[in-house]
Amino acid sequence: MNDVVATELRKPYVTPYAEENLDLPLAFEWQAGAPRLTYRDALPQEWMFGTLWARCGTARKGKIQWHLVHTLRQRRCMLKRLCRVCGGPATDPDTGRVWWILPTSLAGDFQSPWPTAHPPTCKAHISEALTACPYLRREIPVVCTARGYSPVAVLSNLYGLDDAGRVVETSHQIPVGLNEPHLLKRALATQLIVQITDLQRAKRA
Ligand SMILES: [Zn+2]
Repeated sequence: MNDVVATELRKPYVTPYAEENLDLPLAFEWQAGAPRLTYRDALPQEWMFGTLWARCGTARKGKIQWHLVHTLRQRRCMLKRLCRVCGGPATDPDTGRVWWILPTSLAGDFQSPWPTAHPPTCKAHISEALTACPYLRREIPVVCTARGYSPVAVLSNLYGLDDAGRVVETSHQIPVGLNEPHLLKRALATQLIVQITDLQRAKRA
């Protein structure tokens, strides 16, 4: 019976829709004697952690793009400890720990802090996420909780100028540390990477 009910899957909070894709009028400007990536019509809030962030709409309309991640909602989940499925709090009110599903390859060593771009998943949506999320179907998932985490890097595309002075992508989807300002100035951030501390395998009721 449950297999039949599960055919109508929730559209996860972090998954983008086609109508949220926006043009990126990228350009370089000079700042403190060095080139910095910007938009031709950039707003101050489009920078965070010293880097420019990919512009996207927030209407949640159009065809859902299951294989992609919405940049601003992913970042919001990470900064506010929200669930990737519902956008609600992912912190367990009883323990104060954050619920997370990680691929086994990431969560195999619980002694180390792990960098990840995967946002948390609240306790109520663990089962649904295990069923629905494409990345979790590719790798064996482990349900964990974490005491905390902190931003350490951005997943980003790097840009430069070609011989004709056009803005061109030079690297695609690479991690850039928040302590690498020379790279952050050339980066268009698409996801926030955090480092998890005190990761434990979860005991699920
Ligand atoms: Zn949730």
